[in-house]
Amino acid sequence: MNFIFLGPPGAGKGSLAVKVAEEYKIPHISTGDIFRANIKNQTELGKKVDAIIKSGGLVSDDITCELVKNRLEEADCKNGFILDGFPRTIPQAEMFTSICNDVSVVNFEIADDVVIKRLSTRRVCKECKENYNIITLPPKKEGVCDKCGGELFQREDDKQESILHRMEVYREQTEPLIDFYRKKSQITDIDGATQTSELLSEFKKLFSAK
Ligand code: AMP
Repeated sequence: MNFIFLGPPGAGKGSLAVKVAEEYKIPHISTGDIFRANIKNQTELGKKVDAIIKSGGLVSDDITCELVKNRLEEADCKNGFILDGFPRTIPQAEMFTSICNDVSVVNFEIADDVVIKRLSTRRVCKECKENYNIITLPPKKEGVCDKCGGELFQREDDKQESILHRMEVYREQTEPLIDFYRKKSQITDIDGATQTSELLSEFKKLFSAK
């Protein structure tokens, strides 16, 4: 089964994708995670995209499409995948359609104020990338990951100015994809404000694993 998780930043796409990947045994492909790993490892790609990502802008379609195309050719995608954060523009969606038309698009609906609150209170483990929230999902010990003991930090693009920019970019460039996929009858709406565990049960009802 092939999935695209679509929705604004902070809608819960990544958290649900981790659970769905475990349950359905398909890879969770987050373009944001791939870019961040490249920045951490100071690769050529990482150096190119670092400033764009910190500001909350979008990496070019050419770079992003090439990266996704290559990733989807890997053996672990044979039985399906979850794309989290891709496509984010109409040209990206068109490119994806040209290589794969069998996809279910899950559209995470969520109000702006919930997103702003969630993102500004999100913390991520430097080591294992586990997500926390200082209000709704705090770690047992402040600043330390429950899973691996790694240090928790706030993503540069989770700071107020970047959050607002990312939401603007979402409105302008990504939201039109909802119509794009609605016209193709490939979209299912879910409530992004729901807790991940409840969302997973709903997801399993909507998409029973074959
Ligand atoms: P995310 O972790 O999905 O919020 O992505 C973090 C950042 O990576 C975004 O704000 C963009 O700068 C970049 N990025 C991730 N996916 C894409 C994409 N499909 N197209 C362009 N830029 C992307």
